[in-house]
Amino acid sequence: MTTLEVRNPATDELVAVVSAAGEAEVAEAVRRAAEAHEGWSRRPPRERAAVLLALAALMERDAEVLARLDSEDAGKPITECRTGDVPGAIESVRWFAEAADKVFGRVAPTGPGQLGVISREPVGVVAAILPWNYPLAMAAWKIGPALAAGNCLLLKPAEATPRSALRLARLAREAGLPEGVLTVLPGFGDVTGAALARDPVVGALSFTGSTETGRLVLATAALTNFKRVSLEMGGKSPQVLMPDAVEFDDLVDTMIGAAFLTSGQNCTAGSRILVHRDVADEVVARFTAAMRTLVIGDPSSPDTRIGPLISHSAVKRVARAVENAQAAGARVHTAELPEGLHPRGSYYPPTVVTDVAPGDSLLTTELFGPVVSVQTFATEEEAVELANATRYGLAASVWTRDVDVAWRLARGIQAGVVSVNTYSEGDLTSPFGGWKQSGFGGAEKSTTAFDQWTREKTVWLRTR
Ligand code: NAD
Repeated sequence: MTTLEVRNPATDELVAVVSAAGEAEVAEAVRRAAEAHEGWSRRPPRERAAVLLALAALMERDAEVLARLDSEDAGKPITECRTGDVPGAIESVRWFAEAADKVFGRVAPTGPGQLGVISREPVGVVAAILPWNYPLAMAAWKIGPALAAGNCLLLKPAEATPRSALRLARLAREAGLPEGVLTVLPGFGDVTGAALARDPVVGALSFTGSTETGRLVLATAALTNFKRVSLEMGGKSPQVLMPDAVEFDDLVDTMIGAAFLTSGQNCTAGSRILVHRDVADEVVARFTAAMRTLVIGDPSSPDTRIGPLISHSAVKRVARAVENAQAAGARVHTAELPEGLHPRGSYYPPTVVTDVAPGDSLLTTELFGPVVSVQTFATEEEAVELANATRYGLAASVWTRDVDVAWRLARGIQAGVVSVNTYSEGDLTSPFGGWKQSGFGGAEKSTTAFDQWTREKTVWLRTR
């Protein structure tokens, strides 16, 4: 039996060894899911909702355990898990449970003598592949709508972070979810993930992870059964500041949160600051000063704002990108790593890089670490041009009190979500999905999420 070693990135200690599902386990799980589908999909939506609401209640009961699992496996600051990931995951399961009996079909505007009923039906056996940076939260975004719609779901957590998903599967059984409706399959991407992407019975696959892996998953689906694929991928999101942005009291705090949540390992990280040249020096000074006050340390401490990166190789990758930019003339401002960090923890200090050479990868490629670049602009048009100068289009923010300028910028920026005078993905009522190479084939959250997990059927009746 192959296994996954789960290590705490703050200490490099082995915290768990988990069985990895191979091709045979995936095939068996698909078979059991197919068997369970008939029963689960025919349960009245209110009954499916009741099971999911019971699951949400159990997640609430075990919230602290779930928070600790994600914090330990991913190195996420515990306060983020307690106040963000876990309550968000619970809310998501609850929201989709409540939506289970609100997925309406349509009646076609036919002439007399016909009736066209367009219903939304579950796809059947479906799969989700998850990243490591929001293990529980991403699991909940998939489980909620997939199960509420009547599918049976195979869920593959990332190699580094399988434990909260495994716990979730146990809670789901305790909540009364029938066997086979939710199966968590920890494993390696190129084995377990690839087997799910290839499987001819899996009818839909929702992937969250890097753009590179997303491309592979889509290609695999195209070469096999054309399963419906939706991809939520990486980003290089801009925070755009007009001159009056400095008047907002919460500007710098919000920018810091946008840049450094989950130690910068966030798909929507606002990793590019685009600031009007008139206020650039002031913004860089204030941002850098605030960055240097962030508590860097053991993620299990409630005061910690910046924890370790996921691995030592991630630290090397981030360091190399910053060094290369510096060698090409960029100026680097860093916070200091405090003394007393565990010597085997994979820490990298929050960093601001200015004067980056045009075209440097720091401006164009997702880095997934606590590093932000700063670029300046003189006009609105230039701001939009800079904002759009990457292959990604996940998120963005614009800051100005002028509503006309805010609207023009928001309309001009190519991204799935643009915040005005804040930095947010919006709550569960709003869809979340990337543009360009950040997203493909459907969004998460909101009732839009059901599009990934249902398909339309037309029943055409001749009436007499
Ligand atoms: P990753 O692409 O390395 O891995 C994601 C998942 O894909 C893992 O479960 C992995 O095992 C699996 N995988 C790897 N190779 C595979 C293959 N050949 N076939 C099928 N599955 C395979 O990404 P990661 O490092 O875990 O996560 C970080 C990335 O996720 C970043 O790019 C980040 O921006 C992105 N992300 C996006 C969102 C979003 O909603 N847009 C949210 C969180 C993270």
